[in-house]
Amino acid sequence: MTPTIGAAQIRLLERLCNACAVSGDEGEVRKIVLEQIRPIVDEVRVDALGNVLAIRRGQAEGALRVMLAAHMDEVGMMIVQDDEEGYFRFETIGGIDARQLVGKAVWIGSDHIPGVIGTKPVHLTTPEERNHTISLENLRIDSGPVNKNKIKAGDRVAFGTTFRRIGPSLRAKALDNRLGVATLIELVKNAPPDIDLLAAFTVQEEVGLRGARVAAYALNPDLAIVLDSTPANDLPAWDGSENARYNTRLGLGPAIYLADGSTLSDPRLVRFLIDTAESAGIRYQIRQPGGGGTDAGAIHKQRTGIPSVSLSVPGRYLHTAVSLARLSDWKAALALVHTALCQITPLILSADR
Ligand SMILES: [Zn+2]
Repeated sequence: MTPTIGAAQIRLLERLCNACAVSGDEGEVRKIVLEQIRPIVDEVRVDALGNVLAIRRGQAEGALRVMLAAHMDEVGMMIVQDDEEGYFRFETIGGIDARQLVGKAVWIGSDHIPGVIGTKPVHLTTPEERNHTISLENLRIDSGPVNKNKIKAGDRVAFGTTFRRIGPSLRAKALDNRLGVATLIELVKNAPPDIDLLAAFTVQEEVGLRGARVAAYALNPDLAIVLDSTPANDLPAWDGSENARYNTRLGLGPAIYLADGSTLSDPRLVRFLIDTAESAGIRYQIRQPGGGGTDAGAIHKQRTGIPSVSLSVPGRYLHTAVSLARLSDWKAALALVHTALCQITPLILSADR
């Protein structure tokens, strides 16, 4: 069955985005993943780090073992010290520009206690102060004195942004990488019959691909496809000139990786994805090489080497309080990976490189 994205899938994405899973504390998203896939997989377990590892076996003996990975965690913050009266010191977790934090609403801990990263309002600042950024050390999370004893050091803090659909767009926190998680859930539910589908919903990607490393060891696949989200730098330059340095653009389909900061994608898999997209008439784009990385950076170096490639849905403003992606890019990502999995054979790995 060819999977599609309709109202049910968008509602599931909404639940996934509104759940909080800052790295190292991914339980809320893991719970949704397990609820969705447990009834249909042949095997599922949660490993010691919290990765969800699930297997849907193909019909044939000796089927190609394809690992699909999507990280469950999101960037955010962690409470480190109680400053009394409802003010808390915090650290960032994962790549966050401290300039993004000032004045943002947040959700603290498993109860999503509301708070705000406060700063002086304009009335009280000097022109001099308004020309400078505020460093992390000078920021506090304020949740009011009523929540004083409910918030503890170690509690994770996520951006307090609620999911919204805006016409053709999706606006939420953590679209990186709930889009990948939602895609992988659909692929597990609609697994092609001729491969062993090894699904890894990984933890701690945003702090250095830590969950994927042990997940790939445990699953020991023949190859891996990583499903993630990648920043789109596709707006006009602010000085009014044309932006000639875009890396991905919204609306052009999922982005296939040639290279990033931690991986050179396996060229056989890159070619296979491109050929699949072109023959099926599915939109795709090539992610322009640059920094950043995905779980593929850890997976491809596991055991004796695992051919890997990444495919991302582009999104604007990733790793901030709110990001924006296009529904059409998500649909095309699901269609491309599903079509590829229906067509893939072991021959792909014996092809001349
Ligand atoms: Zn990501």
